[in-house]
Amino acid sequence: MPIYEYFCPNCRTKFELLRPISRAAEDGICPGCQQHAPRIMSVFASFSRGADGSVTAVGGGCASCATHACASCSLN
Ligand SMILES: [Zn+2]
Repeated sequence: MPIYEYFCPNCRTKFELLRPISRAAEDGICPGCQQHAPRIMSVFASFSRGADGSVTAVGGGCASCATHACASCSLN
């Protein structure tokens, strides 16, 4: 089952839910405030892998990330 990311605009919490593809378009329920939270698209940033195996994000920010605190952002 795929993991989808949701962002609660009420309490600005980003969370993930495991759910079937058939329900992917549905809002998630925020674990913090129980409000409906729309799904956000995971950002697949461009990464370059250095000769030493380190991974570097290319192109800076995480444009689609509403919180600027996602896994992709932390790599920047
Ligand atoms: Zn919330």
